Amino acid sequence: MTAKLLEGKNIAASIKKELGDELSRLEAKFGSRPHLVTIQAAKDQGSELYLKAQKSLSDELGISFDVLDFSAERSEGRLIQEINKLNQDKNVHGIFVPMPFPVGIDAERVLVEIDPKKDVEGIHPDNLGLLVANKEKILPCTAMACMQLVDSTGVKLYGKEVVIVGASKVVGSPVALLMLKRFATTTVCHIGTYERGVLRDHVNRAEVLVVAVGKAGVIPGEWIREGAVVIDVGINRLNGKIVGDVVFEPARERAGFITPVPGGVGPLTVVFLMKNLVTAFAWQKGE
Ligand code: NAD
Repeated sequence: MTAKLLEGKNIAASIKKELGDELSRLEAKFGSRPHLVTIQAAKDQGSELYLKAQKSLSDELGISFDVLDFSAERSEGRLIQEINKLNQDKNVHGIFVPMPFPVGIDAERVLVEIDPKKDVEGIHPDNLGLLVANKEKILPCTAMACMQLVDSTGVKLYGKEVVIVGASKVVGSPVALLMLKRFATTTVCHIGTYERGVLRDHVNRAEVLVVAVGKAGVIPGEWIREGAVVIDVGINRLNGKIVGDVVFEPARERAGFITPVPGGVGPLTVVFLMKNLVTAFAWQKGE
């Protein structure tokens, strides 16, 4: 079997159309459009690419977008001060601070300062808490991208064996919560699973596999169950190329559907970030 490719940009088109319609509705009602501010705490190729994608999608959707370059400052206090200023600014509706952070700056301490109503990444503890309590407002954008990719295959999640490799607060854990809400039989694997030597057994059971580790080749293609849906969130640099966490070619021979890296999850994540901005705008306006 050769898997069908799940390309984010193809799936993004219909969501972008919905976002365009929602933005027109909100503009007619409130007389303005959302404004997103990204604070660049550090400069690296990954975050530069993410910012480029945000800029291009903002232009396409008619959203105003600013980047504040804090990469030379390297001060946690200044970063938090700036976030507090943006929290107070009624003309700013979304705040995003991409990883990685410079050494010496604690991402957890900084990100918690973002007003939950402006948290376009959807990972503030308040927003994660609302998700657990089934009262969600803003959902984690990468996790939503994963769910959308799985849904695009037509595979029904109810009762399915879903295995998630990686349990971070940003990706793995929120994906697990969203999978549980869809009544998938959900297993979360992590470094402990790997070190105990049982990762292969779990991966081999997966009808739907989501991998978010950040280590090139951590999942060999031979581990993939025949016909599985494989969502590879990982972004790694290997021999000058961007690759995922799954060894792509042999995995493609076994899977039913697989995301390429780059071009799978990434292009959809930025669309869901903008969707969160639109939700945040409406929330701040009292909707
Ligand atoms: P993280 O470092 O916060 O978490 C990694 C997780 O993997 C942890 O739960 C850890 O226990 C687990 N892990 C580590 N080594 C393992 C191993 N050998 N076997 C099994 N599990 C192991 O990472 P993160 O922030 O969740 O990001 C993961 C990857 O996803 C990174 O490559 C990141 O760049 C990428 N990412 C991509 C997007 C996107 O839109 N495409 C968005 C966010 C993150």
